[in-house]
Amino acid sequence: MDLFPLFTQLKGRTVLVVGAGPVADRKIGLLLSAGAHVIVGAHAAHPQVQARAQAGTIELRLAPFDPAWLDTAWFVVAATSNTALNRQVAQAAEARRIFCNVVDDAALSSAQVPAIVDRAPLTIAISSGGSAPVIARRLRERIESLFEPALGALAALAQRQRLAIRQARPQLRARRDFYDWLLDGPVLGALRRQRPAEAEALLTQALGQDTQAPVGKVVLVGAGPGDPGLLTLRGLRALNEADVILTDRLVSAEVLALARRDAEVIDVGKRVGGPHESTQARIHALMASHARQGRCVVRLKGGDPMIFGRGGEELQYLRRHGIAYEVVPGITAALACGAYAGIPLTQRGHAQSLTLATAHRRHDTVAPTTARSTPATTPAPDTGRTHVFYMGVERLPTLRQQLLADGLAPQTPCAIVENGSRPEQRVLHATLDTIETQAQAHAIQSPALVIVGDVTALGAELGWFGTTLGTLPSRAHDAPLQTCA
Ligand code: SAH
Repeated sequence: MDLFPLFTQLKGRTVLVVGAGPVADRKIGLLLSAGAHVIVGAHAAHPQVQARAQAGTIELRLAPFDPAWLDTAWFVVAATSNTALNRQVAQAAEARRIFCNVVDDAALSSAQVPAIVDRAPLTIAISSGGSAPVIARRLRERIESLFEPALGALAALAQRQRLAIRQARPQLRARRDFYDWLLDGPVLGALRRQRPAEAEALLTQALGQDTQAPVGKVVLVGAGPGDPGLLTLRGLRALNEADVILTDRLVSAEVLALARRDAEVIDVGKRVGGPHESTQARIHALMASHARQGRCVVRLKGGDPMIFGRGGEELQYLRRHGIAYEVVPGITAALACGAYAGIPLTQRGHAQSLTLATAHRRHDTVAPTTARSTPATTPAPDTGRTHVFYMGVERLPTLRQQLLADGLAPQTPCAIVENGSRPEQRVLHATLDTIETQAQAHAIQSPALVIVGDVTALGAELGWFGTTLGTLPSRAHDAPLQTCA
């Protein structure tokens, strides 16, 4: 071990900071948050440091460095831009056997300030021993995203109840199980929902029983459209806590790769035209049986679980069977495809409303796209509206006919975004008139989203990702668009 990690209690203890620039100010802020009494010594001070002195939160000495400043200090931070002065401070500290941190100078430091993940009273400190602070910072970001903010409140609760837990579970093994239950179960859930009283009550109630029942639950997680960067932090945490993951066909391998290594992954993907009901019944049964065995089940769905994802039906089933659940939203295909194809779905002056519709219907009819009461003779009833069709490519001929019958002009710009947000993304630009033949010509495949409305023409200019195909709609350009990487 190169450095010995130590957590120091600085409350009410004096820490000397030499230097009063912006770098020093950041350290001062950190020390104050740990409750230290901070003395700042410098020949001149940054306005922010002056303001702290005026507010009385620090003691400011505007003078040349004086080793006597160290007399009352437990710890020293040298944060000046003058290396010789920093060395002088470090030497003075060394002579008095006081630990000294020289900011960004591992060689001069007898103590280093780590990168910190603060879930007080839980603190995670990461150090690269001064060799590569960037790596430590990156690691901190990863850890920051993995541990949810409610963990701090849980640790504080455990601290308050420590004696009670020790008394109720005198055996180490039972006590460990109890702490595991605290981390996995409803107590953390209540804290996450900002209900500390409920959390405390659940804990006390569980302590009163001999053993706590295993707490299975199902977390419905939206995996987003494919790019793993579009998974939410909470989704990532759920994937890291999962015992079992029931995943859909649309979930990308890159997202699954982020899950806990020893989670059991079960592919329950459905194909359009397959035996839906039996597949859905199997999913319900799997969720229930795993959750009842006390496992944390993640039901992972492409995009958002509540947008054409049958998430609602799964929740209804879980509610009927008394199984606890949570929902983590995801970025739905419409939003991802709009963003990654440069199509502003509600651009001012072009579209005031947005419809998310499915072209796939249970009984194989096409969804009515506009109000049926609108007579087909009304000119352009949907000017100013963007329509997004999920599951539309397989039913493109019927969908197109329906839109024309509803009164949309044949020149209405449209786009199809295939594999939105994935490296192989292709965006086809056309008009309602040509979209079907163009889609055939380019062999567009599912998953793809059909977007209809003026805003799609903007995407021909603003597209920035993947490959662009087709011709600029409703404009004089007939030349094929350039392909961008
Ligand atoms: N719950 C999902 C939608 C499931 S329905 C969501 O919120 O996105 C499946 C349809 O979604 C596909 O047929 C396709 O139309 C669309 N889709 C999903 N992912 C897509 C992607 N990466 N690119 C384009 N379309 C996608």
